[in-house]
Amino acid sequence: MNPNEIIRKKRDQEELTKDEIEFFINEYVNGNIPDYQASSLLMAIYLNGMSQSEIYFLTNAMAHSGKIMDLSSIDGIKVDKHSTGGIGDKVTLVLMPLIAACGVPVAKMSGRGLGYTQGTIDKLESIEGFKTNISIYDFIQNVKAIGISLICQQEDIAKADKMLYALRDVTSTVESIPLIASSIMSKKIAAGADKILLEVTCGSGAFMGNLDRAKVLSQTMVNIGRQYGKETIAVITNMDQPLGRFCGNSLEVMETINTLNGKGEDDVVSLCTILGAYILKLAGVSDNLANNMRMIKSKIDNKEGLIKFRELLLRQGGNTYCIDHPEVLNKATYKIPVKTLKPGYVHEINCKNIGKAIVNMGGGRQKKEDTIDNSVGIEVLKKIGDYVEADDILLFIYCNKEELGNSQIRFLQNSYVIEPEKAEKVEEVLDIIE
Ligand code: URA
Repeated sequence: MNPNEIIRKKRDQEELTKDEIEFFINEYVNGNIPDYQASSLLMAIYLNGMSQSEIYFLTNAMAHSGKIMDLSSIDGIKVDKHSTGGIGDKVTLVLMPLIAACGVPVAKMSGRGLGYTQGTIDKLESIEGFKTNISIYDFIQNVKAIGISLICQQEDIAKADKMLYALRDVTSTVESIPLIASSIMSKKIAAGADKILLEVTCGSGAFMGNLDRAKVLSQTMVNIGRQYGKETIAVITNMDQPLGRFCGNSLEVMETINTLNGKGEDDVVSLCTILGAYILKLAGVSDNLANNMRMIKSKIDNKEGLIKFRELLLRQGGNTYCIDHPEVLNKATYKIPVKTLKPGYVHEINCKNIGKAIVNMGGGRQKKEDTIDNSVGIEVLKKIGDYVEADDILLFIYCNKEELGNSQIRFLQNSYVIEPEKAEKVEEVLDIIE
């Protein structure tokens, strides 16, 4: 088979076969197809799209480009959860201990932040001593012992995705539905879960800027899950503004602990309760979503979620002092207010800019190998629908280099659209695709 001919076919909008897709992915991973040819194919896919069967073959080839994890020794239905990324999205951190407290095993592999989005693994690593790079044996033993473990993406899982994602990042081919769907689902299939809950973020802080595209991405991934016989549900969530109050790695862990302690922001609690209800449904606990929501909420009220989080920290080497003293996670030297430029109602927030400001201050990665300052972040005081008086504070910047923090003020002020007319508050859940 000839890679050039495969690129030509996709360029000319012809459908690729299973064999052609498998050949291309295998040869790329083995180093026999260079980056420049893979980039051309990615751009052709970006421009011309793929049929559902092509997406399935691509997902399958990527999933099998490394090891497939075997979680069968863990009792119960293992439900994986994935978010397409957002700002202030601490759902995994809050929800996974609550799910484990409901008796459903949580064996979750998570990623690091890249670009303007943050990742669960960086957040966890802002807890002193917490190890995310443990062996698969320990990972499985943890789940058997305490019902929960979280680890970083393993080198040998979905190798093709790692290579292609890095290439997409530098060839302007990230925001493609077939490429996002196959990237996410190949990792989920390789991670060995029985069922999958997808949080597809939509809005100014997400890859999917509008609901129509979010629905297409959701349906595409639900179809892939179905083709594997793995029941998959996609919940489309609003990312027109940051989730909760804090954005930034260690500040989000602080907010997680506060939430599990019953002091969470309404949007975080509401979203975790809804997503949790669907996970419990997938796990076979009950089809009654209202009861499931009550169950999740009860694990916040009786602190069993927080107890699980403490167990997780103890098991993976994390210092548990922060659980009783979450304020230690607020560790930046400077806290700089960002005031409104005019009074009125908040109509829009350029959510992506909040993520970009965190990256600009050293709290995120421009390149995969960058080291990050996990104490950097932003506290969001005013959200869409809120009224702001002249001189009110919209946000606080948390940083360790005062000049760098000050340099973000105007950028962040300009990220708010404030008008005299009233504005509606936003809904957390926009749609559900089953
Ligand atoms: N998350 C992923 O894992 N892959 C993508 O392509 C986009 C978001």
